[in-house]
Amino acid sequence: MDDARLPSTPIRRVVIAGGGTAGWMAAAALARTLGRVLDITLVESEQIGTVGVGEATIPPLRTFHRLLGIGEQDYLAATQGTIKLGISFENWRAQGHRYIHSFGSSGRDHWSAGFQHFWLRGRQEGLAGDYADYCIELQAAHQDRFSHLPDYHVNYAYHMDAALYARFLRALAQRHGCRRVEGKIAEVETDPGSGCIGALKLESGDVLEGDFFIDCTGFRALLIGQALGVGFSDWSQWLLNDRALAAQTTAVRDAVPYTRAIAGTAGWQWRIPLQHRVGNGIVYSSRFMDDDQAREAFLSSLEGEVIRAPWPVRFRPGQRQRCWEKNCVALGLAGSFIEPLESTTIHLIQRGIVRLLQSFPGVLSQAAIDDYNAQLDAELQHVRDFVVLHYHATERRDSPYWEEVASMRLQHRIDLFRETGLVFHQPGELFAENSWVQVMMGQGIVPARHHPAAAVLGRGDLQRFLGDARRQVLETVARMPAHMDYLRRYAPAP
Ligand code: FAD
Repeated sequence: MDDARLPSTPIRRVVIAGGGTAGWMAAAALARTLGRVLDITLVESEQIGTVGVGEATIPPLRTFHRLLGIGEQDYLAATQGTIKLGISFENWRAQGHRYIHSFGSSGRDHWSAGFQHFWLRGRQEGLAGDYADYCIELQAAHQDRFSHLPDYHVNYAYHMDAALYARFLRALAQRHGCRRVEGKIAEVETDPGSGCIGALKLESGDVLEGDFFIDCTGFRALLIGQALGVGFSDWSQWLLNDRALAAQTTAVRDAVPYTRAIAGTAGWQWRIPLQHRVGNGIVYSSRFMDDDQAREAFLSSLEGEVIRAPWPVRFRPGQRQRCWEKNCVALGLAGSFIEPLESTTIHLIQRGIVRLLQSFPGVLSQAAIDDYNAQLDAELQHVRDFVVLHYHATERRDSPYWEEVASMRLQHRIDLFRETGLVFHQPGELFAENSWVQVMMGQGIVPARHHPAAAVLGRGDLQRFLGDARRQVLETVARMPAHMDYLRRYAPAP
């Protein structure tokens, strides 16, 4: 579509459809930054409710909070949040095996070669410990410790209660002028000329007119999918899982500072420890496990008392062919979904919001729309590939599910690493070289040879280099208290 068919009226009235995590993140960010020049309305339906999951995050959320002026202590206390230093992958490489993909970097890189090359040579010469010994965040997670440090920036994210987070953001958005409407959208009115959305008609008969609409209606995708007819690219050839069950339980021990992702026979389970409870879920493929089997496997593995009984979620992995179409942007589940193995959906919401704010149209421009869609596509596909890596690199073949996932394609990146220790990485990709290395090493892919730069050091220098790196990790982690001891002092729940 060219600009000529897009309306040239200035954008003043923004209507956000849906008040889950996506809706309230968008409302808070827009109201905080552009609330003085825009008229922002959010409509949500308590009767429909939210998906009720999405409680593990990755570190860039801290930047989002800084942009919004959200204090960390207030946020953690309001959402009963805990610290997340990474994810513990259990039974992924093989049954009984465990590794942590942390948010930290391992060792120190040389400009010409990553730390893994020095470690590899050290290992070949019997000088190196486990690869996991060289990362502060990873060791802190292992030892269940956390604190902020004056001389080292610990890289971390959060676990949080999604319902409390939406409430917290709602208060912020309303403080900055966002109007909230309770009601069910019955109809989306489009303009026959431009095809743009003009208004949302509620069941109550109320009409919400707008110049720009943000579709945060979850999997329903009422605006972008149903009204504007933007298709969905299905990724189930790469990602087999299509169902989940979620439940909440009481905590039986202090929260650990990492998410647990535990592989099963036809999928995996998550454990997200909060201050006041644990979020649990099972993600599985309906082709390999029926709902009764999934429920039984899930219930029998739960610890603590069930405080919210299991509820089902059905999904299709993939993305909207265009997340921005005409005068509507889709955020959250309305736009895309990649299973939550690396907790990336909230991050993708954040990226969508930041990009939208950066290119926020005074008037609609097709060039800006195309640019937004192209950038978001690249980001989504990178995240998809990183999630696929966890399946592709597994040694498990103990069920039809694992046999099938092992045949999925991601060979280029894996071969490159296996043969050379190099990581194919493009600028701007969310998961940096360090993440690919931690996951590939964790899944048992060890490069055949190291970069020649690692051979330049004499044996004694290499031993000192590796020894210093390891000592620094141990000394730094030893200065951190137990995670929950720190959190109870730092951000006690109200
Ligand atoms: P929803 O929460 O479904 O909200 C939709 C909103 O639209 C609701 O307010 C609803 O009332 C409203 N609505 C719908 N229809 C109407 C209508 N007709 N009228 C009025 N209002 C309407 N992400 C992570 O980052 N980390 C995780 O650990 C993680 N785990 C997940 C686990 C599972 C099993 C799933 C499925 C997702 C997970 N996600 C995770 C993704 C995360 O849950 C979502 O990205 C996030 O909750 C955003 O959801 P949403 O706001 O798009 O949709």
